[in-house]
This record gives sequence, structure tokens and C-alpha cells, in this order.
Amino acid sequence: MRKLLVGGNWKQNGTVKFAHDFSQNVLNKAKFDANKVEVVVSPSTLHLLTAKQALQNHIQVSAQNISQYKNGAYTGELSAEMLNDAGIHWTILGHSERRHVFGESDKVVGEKVKHALAHNLKVIACIGEKLDERESGKTQVVNERQLNAIRELVNDWSNVVIAYEPVWAIGTGKTASPEQAQEVHDQLRQWLKSNVSADAANATRILYGGSVTEKNADELIAKRDVDGFLVGGAALKEGFLDIIRAAN
Ligand code: PGA
Repeated sequence: MRKLLVGGNWKQNGTVKFAHDFSQNVLNKAKFDANKVEVVVSPSTLHLLTAKQALQNHIQVSAQNISQYKNGAYTGELSAEMLNDAGIHWTILGHSERRHVFGESDKVVGEKVKHALAHNLKVIACIGEKLDERESGKTQVVNERQLNAIRELVNDWSNVVIAYEPVWAIGTGKTASPEQAQEVHDQLRQWLKSNVSADAANATRILYGGSVTEKNADELIAKRDVDGFLVGGAALKEGFLDIIRAAN
């Protein structure tokens, strides 16, 4: 059985005080069986260590993005080496905001995933289609194009978690229905089977992201191929504990 994973993506939000107080007073109250569920929260770079130091309960922290380069002359970037040094073992990569606001190409996301894995980081690799792509029947084509860019550079998927986040569902309050999520997750698992291996298809966690709240988490997690969530807005509120509970 795949261990479920609940991720909280804080994006560009919060203060030092929020990172500390929310970790200590809210997240530390989370009740979950760490053998069954992993919980990984992703504050801004500035707030990573504040959260990490305040967290107990096996809750892990993750960066939201890293550079595809080793330490050196790359102003404004965060390296895998810096995360290793700080004892941080996870990064999100390829989030739709990185792709569509900051122009990261499929190729760059693939390079970042390869670089992160080579530096012993675990990766939450985000993929997903835009509304016009879904409406023109291109959902699977887009997801496979984004996955193929990773697969060209990565053979071992054991430290990769896929987050399927339809762009039209992110921050919009318009969640994919459990049936829509299951349909895509099933296709992604088939893709893993055909393009990576049967083992990878069985073992790789596929998270759903896009307007997940404590109200819809139960019905989404009930689907066979939904192995957890990547939560944005609702990860900044106490209701995140109920989303963790839904997975537990
Ligand atoms: P949302 O964001 O939950 O606010 O829709 C999800 C994400 O961007 O990871």
C-alpha cells in the first residue's frame, strides 16, 4: 500500500511569526499515524527553518522551488546543497505558478527534478492542464508532455511524488470532482506503467491539488488512485488539520 501524503503549499504568504505560531499551535496538534500518512508543509524559503524548528509530530518541511544549478553565481536562487545543509529533504518543483507566471519550461522542470534527486531530495513534481486545454480534450496530452520531460532525465522515480493540479482548479474554489480526479490519476498510473515500470506505477504517490478543503477532502481521498493532496489556501488555516484527518 502506498503511504498517503498531505502537502501544504504556503506559496508567497506568511510572516516569521505566522510560520512559528501556526507550526507550534496548529500543526503540532495534527493527529495522524506516521506509518500511514506523511505530512509535508512548504513555507517560503525565508520561513523554512522557523517552521522546521517549531514542528514536532513527524511533520516535515519542503522548499517550494530550487535552482537546477549547483552553488555559485545565481542571484536570487536556492540550491539543493543549501537544503541538504539545513536538513530539509523535500522540494516542490514545476508548480503551475512557476510554469505559467515565471515561465519555467517543461525542460527546466525536468532538469530541476533530476538535479534535486541527484542531491538526495524528495520531489513533489506538479503537473496539470489549463482550462482551455481541458476543454479542447488535451488534458492527458499536456500531463504526458510534462511527465515526459522528467522521464527523459530521470530513471528512478522512487523519490518522486506526482501532484496532479489542474490549473483551472488552483485557487479558484472550483475543485475537480472526485470522478475527474480519479480518471486522470488512473491515466497517470497507466503512463507510469508504460513509460517507467510496473513497480513505479504501484509505488508512486499521485496527489490531487486544486481547491482542496476540509469539505471535499473525504470524497477525493476515497478514490483509489488519489494518494493525498497538495493544498494551497486551506493549508494556511486550522482546517488543514481536518484535511490531514481525512487522509489518516
Ligand atoms: P489551492 O492551491 O489549494 O489554493 O487551490 C493548490 C496549489 O497551488 O498547490
